[in-house]
Amino acid sequence: MYNMMSKENPNILVVEDEAAIREMLNFSLGKAGFNVHEAADARQAQDLMSKTVPDLVLLDWMLPGISGVDLANKLRQVKRTHRVPIIMLTARGEEENKIKGLEAGADDYVTKPFSTRELIARINAVLRRSIGDTDGDVLEAGILKLDTVGHRVTVNNQALELGPTEFRLLHFFMTHAERVFSRSQLLDQVWGDHVYIEERTVDVHIRRLRRALEEHDCDKFIQTVRGAGYRFSEQV
Ligand code: CA
Repeated sequence: MYNMMSKENPNILVVEDEAAIREMLNFSLGKAGFNVHEAADARQAQDLMSKTVPDLVLLDWMLPGISGVDLANKLRQVKRTHRVPIIMLTARGEEENKIKGLEAGADDYVTKPFSTRELIARINAVLRRSIGDTDGDVLEAGILKLDTVGHRVTVNNQALELGPTEFRLLHFFMTHAERVFSRSQLLDQVWGDHVYIEERTVDVHIRRLRRALEEHDCDKFIQTVRGAGYRFSEQV
């Protein structure tokens, strides 16, 4: 049984049919401070997860029986596991599957052979994002609250009217607080693959978001970082 309480040692479930890779991951991730659990196929993984949901699943694409992408789909459909972060592993040459993997609900994608250092960096990045998500369904910054389920933003319990893009932008900022994002990063993260959108579109929506927050003096959370982009921070 996993120890869910030791957040300082996140539980990683490695789902990989190749024993050598599992052992290598167990060793290197263990050394990096993770509690590693191993499953050789999707069924074993589901067995383990029926007992305890890990903090992250490292999921091989090519598995005997149920494939990695099918397992990712299944995990996303079950309430118990629908938020567990997933990083897909794939062999070189399967990179065209990337979109399919991400559509199945994977949070990131790593191509074999990978460096341990890169993998650990990706794991940490995904874990950081998911901790933001699982803090509850209401994100808070002082008097500002964003209800991810009800899709509502309130300040001092007063509803704030935001357009859908401003809502997504604020949601992204609140789940990625204290980090600076360039306009192009924000376009990627908030708008998706809309390559035809100009970067100054970001500025327009930032202005609208600030205007909506201004009345309550919360616009100060959306900070311009000269020459770099924007940051959401409660430290003003
Ligand atoms: Ca495999």
